[in-house]
Amino acid sequence: MNAALPPPIPFLDLQAQQRRLGQSLRSRLDAVLAHGQFVLGPEVAELEARLAAFCGAAHCVGVSSGTDALQIALMAEGVGPGDAVFLPAFTYTATAEVPLLLGATPVFVDVDPRSFQIDLASLAARIAGVREAGRLKPRAIIGVDLFGQPADWPGLGAIAAREGLFTLDDCAQAFGAAQHGVRLGKAADATATSFFPSKPLGAYGDGGALFTQSAERAALYRSLRSHGEGAQRYEVLRTGMNGRLDTIQAAILLAKLELFEAELARREVIARIYDAALADVVEVPARLAGAQSAWAVYAVLLPDEPAREAARAALTAAGIGHAVYYPRALHEQPAYRAAHDGARLAVAEGLGPRILALPIHPDLTDEQAGRVAAVLRRALGA
Ligand SMILES: *Cc1c(COP(=O)(O)O)cnc(C)c1O
Repeated sequence: MNAALPPPIPFLDLQAQQRRLGQSLRSRLDAVLAHGQFVLGPEVAELEARLAAFCGAAHCVGVSSGTDALQIALMAEGVGPGDAVFLPAFTYTATAEVPLLLGATPVFVDVDPRSFQIDLASLAARIAGVREAGRLKPRAIIGVDLFGQPADWPGLGAIAAREGLFTLDDCAQAFGAAQHGVRLGKAADATATSFFPSKPLGAYGDGGALFTQSAERAALYRSLRSHGEGAQRYEVLRTGMNGRLDTIQAAILLAKLELFEAELARREVIARIYDAALADVVEVPARLAGAQSAWAVYAVLLPDEPAREAARAALTAAGIGHAVYYPRALHEQPAYRAAHDGARLAVAEGLGPRILALPIHPDLTDEQAGRVAAVLRRALGA
C-alpha cells in the first residue's frame, strides 16, 4: 500500500493570495513605476485616507514598520529616561524594545490565562508598585491586541484615565479587528499597526501606520517620520527619524485592501472550524465579550510541554505548518532581564511551553483546516 501523502499545508500562503490579487496588483505597481515618486508618492496619501476610513480613525500616517510606528508614537509624547511604560510580558519583542531604545523603562505586566491579553488587575498592581517605589514616573500603557484579538480597551482606558497615562495600542497583529462593533484604530490615544508580510494586512516588505484622533499628534508623526522636518523642506524642528512608508508598499497594500474584508471573514470561518473540532481536546482561544478578532494567529494551549511537542512532531510529519508564539515571556529573554524588576509574572511564564499556533491564512480550505484538526486530535490520542 503506497497511498500518496496529502499535499503539505503551509502556515502562510502568500503565493495563493497573489494569484487572487491578479491584475490589480500589477496595475498598482505599474502606476508607481510610471510616475517614479518612490518616497511619499500619491499612493501613500491614498492609502492613509483609505485605512483611516476603514477603521474610522480621524488620521492615519504611513510609516516604515510597526516597530517604527510604536517608536514615533512614544517619541511624540517625549517618553524617555525616568519614565515607566507598562506593557504585557507575553508579546513580540518590538513592544518592549521601543521604550528601551528611548531610554525609558518597560514594566512588564502579566496576562490573562485564557485570552493571553494584558491582565487589568496585574496592570493596576504594577502601576501602584512603581508609584510606591518612587524611582520612575508612570507615563504610558502599551496594550497589545495579541494574536489579532482586541485587548480590553475599555478597561485599559479607565485605568489610564485614572492614572493620567498615555495609551498606545500595539495593533500590529490586529488591524481590522473590532470591539463592540467598532474597529480598532481609535481605542487608544494612538494606534500602531504593522504591514509585515505575515500580518493580516501585509505588504511585500516592511511597513506600518499610526492612527490617532488628534490633529496635533498626526502632524507630529508626519514630522517625526521625516527627520523632524517642519512645513519647509530642510527646516529641522526636532530630532526625528527616517520612518516613511515606501510608495511601492502603499501600492501593494491598496491592492490587498480590496480583498481584506473577505479575508477577515474567511479567517473567522477557519477559527470556528478549529473551535468546533478541537475544543474538547485543547484550550481554544477565548474571546473577550464583544470582540471580533483579525485572527493573525490561532493559538491553542496544550496540557503540558510533552503534549505540545508531540503535537508539533505529528504536524511536522504530516507536512502541516505551525509555530510557537512565543516560546518565552519577554522579561525572561536575555535582552530584557536587566530591565525587569524581578516580579513573578506566573501566567506569562507558563504559556511558552504549552502554546501552539495553527495555520489560519485566508487561502486555507475547510478540508485543510479539518485535516489540521484531525492530525492534532490523533496526536493527543483523541
Ligand atoms: C509584528 C509586531 C510588531 C512589529 O512590527 P514590524 O512591522 O515587524 O516592525 C510589534 N508588535 C507586535 C505585537 C507585533 O506582532
